[in-house]
Amino acid sequence: MMIVMKEGASEAEIAAVVKRVEAVGAHAHISQGELVTVIGAIGDREHVANLGLEGAPGVDHLVPILKPYKLASLEYRRGERTVVEVDGRKIGGDRFATIAGPCTVESREVMLDSARIVKDAGAQLLRGGAYKPRTSPYSFQGLGEAGLRLLAEAREETGLPIVTELMDVRDMEPVLEVADVVQLGARSMQNYTLLTEVGRAGVPVLLKRGLSATLEELLMAAEYVLKEGNPNVMLCERGIRTYEPSYRFTLDLMAVPVLRELTHLPIIVDPSHAAGRRSLVEPLSLAAAAAGADGVIVEVHPCPEEAVCDGPQALRAEQFADYLRKLEAAAELAGKTLAAV
Ligand code: PEP
Ligand code: MN
Repeated sequence: MMIVMKEGASEAEIAAVVKRVEAVGAHAHISQGELVTVIGAIGDREHVANLGLEGAPGVDHLVPILKPYKLASLEYRRGERTVVEVDGRKIGGDRFATIAGPCTVESREVMLDSARIVKDAGAQLLRGGAYKPRTSPYSFQGLGEAGLRLLAEAREETGLPIVTELMDVRDMEPVLEVADVVQLGARSMQNYTLLTEVGRAGVPVLLKRGLSATLEELLMAAEYVLKEGNPNVMLCERGIRTYEPSYRFTLDLMAVPVLRELTHLPIIVDPSHAAGRRSLVEPLSLAAAAAGADGVIVEVHPCPEEAVCDGPQALRAEQFADYLRKLEAAAELAGKTLAAV
């Protein structure tokens, strides 16, 4: 249930509602809007309804949220979209964000080169995994803490905020020291312990859709993070598994406008992992931008032929600036501007 307070409701009136909600065992989640405060009462709907909060001092009206996810729903924010701020960069709203870099941190030279390439071309954030979820246990698993140190160095040099994956709660501390945005990969989308912990940490989260997850399951995963009081969640469509074998995954671009109807959270598209090959990355990115995505996360490598992983899908350094220019035009079609760094 959503309890919408009157404009100008006092702190004491809000506190009184929270107290009554909590008294029936529900969780009260306060959201301070521009004009009014909304209290999300998350718990047994019947118990909250029986409180008779209509007419209580400061309460304007009550709105039931029928979806299984509450805090992630568009209704909960009364249509106002979340803008996640990462080190001064705004993601969401009328901005189009660009996150770029290699698949994994593989060496100091490649990481710093990649960082310079994406920075010079005008990307906003730098990606690179120090911990890699690989299908085969025999594949390169990431440099771990040594990789995190290289990411910190790349940020130091370029000033670009870092997006990097966290796979295991045991690595929280070192990852949080370096990550400006914690990526939770497709394979971790339903790791509920991890979701809860990043929720508690309050750090911005890029939550990737599982290979076979429905949009509702993705939103329920986001709910785990939001429920812990962390509002900085971005969703990422990265391709789902279908029966079509001609490309790595099927980029579900329909998810973009559909998610916009369901949630206030920013929606990022990863064309690289969906495509699996370079030639598809640009057309998919343009389509994502035109469809109203809030940004892309894309792989770029100084020498894709030598990349330790995902080389075939990495954009080349020399094509990246031109790619961003085209992306800017496509984002404009959806009323968004490529955020200036
Ligand atoms: C990645 O972005 O590096 C990655 C492994 O993506 P996903 O979790 O979507 O496969
Ligand atoms: Mn990759």
